[in-house]
Amino acid sequence: MVTLASSRNEADIKRMQEHRVNGFPGENELKDLQFKLANNLQSTLDIQTALELFFNNIQDAVKVSGLTYLHPTEDLEVCLGRQCQHQAQYKIASSKSQLGTILFTRGKRFLEGELALLEMFISVLFYPLRNALLYREALENSMRDTLTGIGNRAAMELSYAREIKLAHRHEQPLSLLLIDIDHFKQINDNLGHTNGDKVLKHVVHCIRESLRETDQIFRFGGEEFVVLLHGTDQESGRLTAERIRMKVAMTPIFIRDEEQFCSISLGISQLLQTDTTDSLFERADKALYQAKRTGRNKVVTASLTQQESSAS
Ligand code: GH3
Ligand code: MG
Ligand code: MG
Repeated sequence: MVTLASSRNEADIKRMQEHRVNGFPGENELKDLQFKLANNLQSTLDIQTALELFFNNIQDAVKVSGLTYLHPTEDLEVCLGRQCQHQAQYKIASSKSQLGTILFTRGKRFLEGELALLEMFISVLFYPLRNALLYREALENSMRDTLTGIGNRAAMELSYAREIKLAHRHEQPLSLLLIDIDHFKQINDNLGHTNGDKVLKHVVHCIRESLRETDQIFRFGGEEFVVLLHGTDQESGRLTAERIRMKVAMTPIFIRDEEQFCSISLGISQLLQTDTTDSLFERADKALYQAKRTGRNKVVTASLTQQESSAS
């Protein structure tokens, strides 16, 4: 069931279906258009593509200059065509789900009959749009770590390769942080697995609080995290890593009404021109290993590790 902002007169639709009135499609043509639209919409689960098909298909019946789709809770907006002065807005919803709003615009006022047609086309869009939204949600969930809410390893692998390519292409610095919670097995053993989970969430919270909006954080494995610092060289990366380390070390977490503290070790590497995804990662991993080996609760940069190893 589709809820519409304004309800059109049933007789209006019927009248249009029976005759071609003032250039409106007749009943058979309308049926063809509905069928074609429904058929086309079946071919995709991508919201942008579905809306583009919708926008193009409805032009045969109603000329529209611009279409804006908004889903407020999903933080999703799709703008097609050109925005104009005259508007017709529809809220698409059923008793169970809110699918967002569609705003049609054009330079000329919408006629009653055209609004009736738009409403009819929206009812064809309803289920394909709902399916596309469900698919999007399922995709997003498959990329998210359920415990901490951050991206999981699959998400990291997707972003990591892309960000390296972009940084190489635009000759922008990129730093990689590998973070590992110290003695986490002991935390689990002493406080229990459920409280271990609490510590994981707490550490993620501390890391997030120390990052910029544009930085990306992923849960790479059990108690290991990857942070991609965009436009950041190794020295700035080291400062960020140090800020994160301090934040984790100094922020108490309350477990069984008692303050508990934990620490993390961090390894950093900066993208070099010759780097591949593997080589950048390996340097940060070696640096992290060095941080563990030399006492934990510390930050080691890859260059320091290399200097140390070449000096020894
Ligand atoms: P180190 O300082 O050298 O990093 O030692 P560690 O104890 O942190 O490292 P180790 O690899 O020995 O232990 C990691 C532990 O993390 C073992 C595993 O049971 C635990 N772990 C992995 N995933 C989860 C999880 O989702 N929740 C909880 N509570 N524990 C987890
Ligand atoms: Mg580990
Ligand atoms: Mg650990």
